Amino acid sequence: MDCTIGWIRTKNGYIIFKNRDTKKEFLTDNLFQKTEGLVKIGYKSERKGCWIGINRYGIGFTSAKGPYREVPAGYFSWKKFNEIGEKVLKRAKSLDEAIGLFIKNYKKQKIGDSANILLSDKNHAYLLEFWLENIKIKKYSRFIFKTNHFELMGRLNQNLKSLNSSTKRLKKFRELFRYHKPKRAEDLIPLLTHHSRNAEENICRHGRVMTVGSAIFEVKNNAIICYYSLNRSPCKGKYNKDICFSETLSTLS
Ligand SMILES: [Zn+2]
Repeated sequence: MDCTIGWIRTKNGYIIFKNRDTKKEFLTDNLFQKTEGLVKIGYKSERKGCWIGINRYGIGFTSAKGPYREVPAGYFSWKKFNEIGEKVLKRAKSLDEAIGLFIKNYKKQKIGDSANILLSDKNHAYLLEFWLENIKIKKYSRFIFKTNHFELMGRLNQNLKSLNSSTKRLKKFRELFRYHKPKRAEDLIPLLTHHSRNAEENICRHGRVMTVGSAIFEVKNNAIICYYSLNRSPCKGKYNKDICFSETLSTLS
């Protein structure tokens, strides 16, 4: 999953977003759900794991693969990160609790892949970089955008063949952010559907690796506003909109 993810603090809350980029065969495997105290997008084929989600306490999670892609024998692969993400959202009532739970669950598992994880609330986002039992964390107060290369464990970037595209995509996204100055969830749509002259700078990706899902979740007061375009290129049609309220999420099962 070569993705683009981010967190932006807003006046009354925050926005998290993700373009899920992967191989064509996973094109239709994305599912939006409101369930068990959270709103999330996970996989149709599996019950466990989400790649973006916000719970009733306003804690957000999203993920992007890291630069190290080898899975040694006896280790789990990438999807385990998204399973931990969902598990954490089902339990955490605060951002600190979410960080603690994520790290605790990570240490219990042997995961071979590397990952960029964003955990957030309305005041802060934490970037967590994971690689073979190594963890680095950084806190952000205004915004943070990530593709796949590491910033905190940069020495691992040499392992990523597609690093060039990752750095170019991140640079392009930052340019688009400065230009568009998005303030609300829907303002992110032009950024996440962006095509560049140089295909390596596409935010909406086409080709061997393509964008198969795009989601923007905004926490605004006690509502969660969701825009998502799933199982097709996000540039090829409208985003669905869904609004739910944190108290409604507590009653869903
Ligand atoms: Zn496109």
